[in-house]
Amino acid sequence: MSGQQADLLSGQRAIVTGANSGIGEAVAKGLAGAGAKVAVNYVVNEAEAQRVVAEIEALGGEAMAVYADVSNEADVEKMFEQVIGAWQSVDILVNNAGIQRDAAFVDMSLDQWNKVMDVNLTGQFLCTRAAAREFLRRGVDSSLSCAAGKVICMSSVHEVIPWAGHVNYAASKGGVMMFMQSVAQELAHQKIRVNGIAPGAIKTPINRSAWETPEAAASLLELIPYERIGEPDDIAKATVWLASDQSDYVTGTTLFVDGGMTLYPGFREGG
Ligand code: NAD
Repeated sequence: MSGQQADLLSGQRAIVTGANSGIGEAVAKGLAGAGAKVAVNYVVNEAEAQRVVAEIEALGGEAMAVYADVSNEADVEKMFEQVIGAWQSVDILVNNAGIQRDAAFVDMSLDQWNKVMDVNLTGQFLCTRAAAREFLRRGVDSSLSCAAGKVICMSSVHEVIPWAGHVNYAASKGGVMMFMQSVAQELAHQKIRVNGIAPGAIKTPINRSAWETPEAAASLLELIPYERIGEPDDIAKATVWLASDQSDYVTGTTLFVDGGMTLYPGFREGG
């Protein structure tokens, strides 16, 4: 693959969950652009996963589409077996899959609560556990990386910003933060790095209603000091950095990629 960072991840093998759409697609392409082989996970729309694979291959990269519902233990185990079977090991996991099931709190059903927790939090647990077991089995391969493995957990600014009408989502992302930090603390001495990325508002299908009309975009921009809505590629670049040895001394950290959304923009003029 061509590109400035083409050798940053060369020879490494990555799994990106929910990689047939939005941020996951950009992350898969970003990792491939940095030289990694990328497993493009999907749960629905296999054709979209195959499109992402074909687009990576067209640029000279290597990728495969792999099915798994990240909230299903057997699916996750099978996905890791498939990828390790094909590529001998895994070096990078990006826990990207996530959903919203929004409702006013008093109307929120147990199903809406559980679905969001199952995908956004339990999914990260199942995938991270499978990845960590493989990293420990293999240990450090210094020809590839200083670390035995890297996990990047896609969180959200809502790991710290409360979000009315989205209590299940905010609670799941707050959980992701403490999950990420605890696993990082537990596995650091085994040379496994675990970090989070907290995107602000990124233009993807998950939040289309928040940016697709000029009125919605204008009201969203009031929350963003940097005065632009984020692009999936903003997150891809941060992910490549966290997956590479350029961030070798970074673990247990959340990188906010949010145009300043967490800077309390309401205080710019007030307070
Ligand atoms: P998206 O809807 O485009 O992508 C979500 C992906 O997750 C899709 O590919 C979907 O099929 C997949 N997915 C859902 N359930 C799954 C399951 N059970 N197993 C496997 N895959 C599953 O949305 P996105 O904006 O690209 O979201 C990606 C991540 O970024 C999510 O974790 C989301 O919470 C987070 N995030 C997004 C924004 C934003 O503004 N777009 C902001 C903060 C955080």
